[in-house]
This record gives sequence, structure tokens and C-alpha cells, in this order.
Amino acid sequence: MKLVVVGSANMDLVVQTERAPRAGETVVGEGFTLAPGGKGANQAVAAARLGAEVVFIARVGDDDFGKRNLENYRREGIDTSHVAVDPEAPSGVALIVVERGGENRIVVVPGANGRLDPNDVTRARSAFAGAAALLVQLEVPLATVEAALRLGREHGLRTILNPAPACPLPEGLLRSVDILTPNETELARITGRETADPGEIPALARGLLARGPEHVIVTLGENGALIVSREGEVHVPSFPVEAVDTTAAGDAFNGALAVALAEGMDMERAVRFACAAGALATTVLGAQPSLPRRDRVESLLRGAR
Ligand code: ADP
Repeated sequence: MKLVVVGSANMDLVVQTERAPRAGETVVGEGFTLAPGGKGANQAVAAARLGAEVVFIARVGDDDFGKRNLENYRREGIDTSHVAVDPEAPSGVALIVVERGGENRIVVVPGANGRLDPNDVTRARSAFAGAAALLVQLEVPLATVEAALRLGREHGLRTILNPAPACPLPEGLLRSVDILTPNETELARITGRETADPGEIPALARGLLARGPEHVIVTLGENGALIVSREGEVHVPSFPVEAVDTTAAGDAFNGALAVALAEGMDMERAVRFACAAGALATTVLGAQPSLPRRDRVESLLRGAR
């Protein structure tokens, strides 16, 4: 069962400090870790760990971070033949400053991700043939997202757009999307709001159905997820777990959803599977280290029955 993921590849530079420096100030930090990240890569790894044959379409720099990322994807069993190495732009990085109290400050420099263009997707056309689903996020240029979705449609793939980080979407874009998976904040942003009250979520999601998607699945953190379609709404509860770090819960959810749908599960079962993966991702620190393997997801699902 083949899955195509088009998206960002970053290296996360995580700095721990008692408190972040003010402008012009230098502070001595307490820890540093280098970890592969980027929503595209995280979701590709999530899907690979759950058993999918994943083709990743992305762009890294011709530098040490790019090499390390490529090695990491290969170790995860991901097909990297369509990961381009950019001769000029550096690999994308996220500089993440974490204060002792847990507060985050993040600067993302897209680098090579900003140069993943529609031609990169067209060149990877062969990867779409025979694939069951396509998973895309918004950390690469919108024209590339559009090209991927159109190609996905042409080849009869289930197209899934995780609209993260949220930005205003061109009117036609959602017409090529089968399944849209915003969290609450992203749902507010793409419907032109600052925030959304919990009571407004179903109506906002229903409004998006008119723009194209067959299903809008709103992830609700510890409250699980809401499936909204023309047939109505179904709430899927979350799995009670001891959450220590919610980083990449959304990435685990999206990777898992794509795998489940590509395997032919019906929507409700697929979202339950994705909620189990999202819950497990909150029980381990970090992004990719927290993405669960298949057996753990299956056993959480069995335990909850
Ligand atoms: P994002 O990381 O994109 O903000 P969410 O926080 O909504 O996304 O999390 C994605 C999914 O992960 C949720 O739909 C839910 O199923 C699961 N999840 C997230 N946080 C928790 C939690 N504290 N307990 C259990 N499940 C969670």
C-alpha cells in the first residue's frame, strides 16, 4: 500500500534554557539537541512506522543537515528518490528555544523547502501511479501544494490536506482536497477568524465542505476529533494517556489517518486509529522519537474496546 507525502524537511535545533534572552542579551543555556523535523518529514515517518510504503517528495540543502535528514528517512524505510538536493539554498531549520517553564519560541527558516516547486512534483509523477493516498501540509509553497493535489486527483489518490501552519487558502485549492484536517486554531484561521469557540466548530467546518472537501476532520487535542461531512457529524473521543509533550501529535494523527484510509478503513475507524496514534505521540518527548509503531497503536485500540 503506497502513500505519497509532499512537504517540508527540517532540522530542529532545540535549545533548553532557564529563560530566553531579551534583545541584546546573552544567556547560558542548559541543553541542546539536534533532531530531524518538519511537518512533511514527520508525517512521512509517522506513516512509514505504521507500515505504509512511503514516497517522500521534498527538498533539502546540499549540506550536513540535508545529508543527515536523507539518511534518517532511509533508515525509516522511506523512498527518497524524489527528495531533491538544492545546490544553493540551505536545509530548512527550526530554531526552538524552550524555557524551563515549558514556554516555546520558534524561528523557522524554510531554506530549500521554499524552493520545492511544482516541477519537483511533476517530475515525481511516476510515484503517484499506483499510490492510494496523498498527504500534504502547508510548509512548502502553495503553488507546489496545488500541483501535488491536482496530480493526486488525476491519479485517483485520496487527497488529504493538513492545513498547517494555517494561512489564507486560494479559493480553488480545496476543490482538489478530499479530506481536510485542521486543528481548532487552523480551522479558525482558514475560515477568516482569529479564534473559534468550541460551539462554533461544527458550523465552521460545515462551511468548508461547500469549498470542496468531502470530509473535514477537526482535531481537538485531548478531546479527540470531529468528523464533519454532508451526512452529519461524528465525534471520536481521544484515548486517555499520560501526556508529557504534545509536539507532533498532529503529525502522528495525519500520518496514521493517511495509512488507515489507504488501507481501506472506513472514515470512523480510520479516525479512531489516527486518534490512537496522536495520543501515543503525546506520551514521549520530542517530535519524531514520539511517533508510534503499529503494534503500539493496535494494542491501544484493543485495550480501549
Ligand atoms: P496539533 O498537534 O496539530 O495541534 P491536536 O493537538 O489536535 O493537533 O492533536 C492531534 C490528535 O492527537 C488529537 O485529535 C487527539 O486524537 C490526539 N491528542 C492530542 N493531545 C492529546 C492528549 N492530551 N490526550 C490524548 N490524545 C491527544
